[in-house]
Amino acid sequence: MNYNAVINEASKILKDYSIKSPKLDSEIILANVLKLSREQLLLNLNEKISSKDFKFFIKSIQRRRKKEPVAYIIGHKEFWKEKFKVNSNVLIPRPDTEIIVEEVLKNIPLKSSKNILDIGTGSGCIILSILGDRIKCYANALDVSIKALKVAKYNAKIQQLENRIRFINSNIDKFCNGKYDIIISNPPYIKSLNIKKLDDDVRLYEPKLALDGGNDGFSQIREVIKKSSILIKKKGKLFLEIGFDQVNETKKLLLDNKFYVNKIVKDLGKKNRCIISTKI
Ligand code: GLN
Repeated sequence: MNYNAVINEASKILKDYSIKSPKLDSEIILANVLKLSREQLLLNLNEKISSKDFKFFIKSIQRRRKKEPVAYIIGHKEFWKEKFKVNSNVLIPRPDTEIIVEEVLKNIPLKSSKNILDIGTGSGCIILSILGDRIKCYANALDVSIKALKVAKYNAKIQQLENRIRFINSNIDKFCNGKYDIIISNPPYIKSLNIKKLDDDVRLYEPKLALDGGNDGFSQIREVIKKSSILIKKKGKLFLEIGFDQVNETKKLLLDNKFYVNKIVKDLGKKNRCIISTKI
């Protein structure tokens, strides 16, 4: 069978199982199996697939058919300027999260050296993207999950940033080291009850720990804000990713903890997503 026929067969299967982008997913998965870029694959559609590659491809398509996200199947996800290793121990980096990166970068002049704290680093996507673009900055990155930190450390190493970042296995309420110019966090912010309403891809495969914000969705946001107000320098900036309907409550929490709210930034779907504040 040639690549074109393989893609068509797989797309049909995925379509039957109501996967939203069957052709694209098949192409990405096949390209990964063949160790080609998607562009290279599409330029070589008449090539024949080897039986070894075909077997592995079918296994991967069966995983996708059961709604496992493509990023976990191929083991990486593009975010900002890099390819990040991911597995089921970390949240898959979202395009919407690039907004935090963009906003933080606007706040750090190219040559300036800032001490940054990332709370709940996951794959490390946010903080590593920032360090990659601001070569004088350095950071501490926390996560409660040792398995997540293993992924983040790998990403730091691949991107040659490991000298400017320290990974710490800790909960935010137990952490009390240092004073930071900038604190960033994309904490779990989904109400426990709403987890079951998420897409199967997310609900069945992504780590609950990275999603579940407790009964009201604010348990982690609250902790992060409270602790940040102690760990941040005066005039330091806090960048938080939150749910679109969490702005008012988050503003209140920030004011209660002596932060001045600078701005709220919308995501690609025009929903409130990022809240930036300054410690007074
Ligand atoms: N900081 C990581 C991200 O933005 C992980 C966030 C999380 O696990 N809640 O993807």
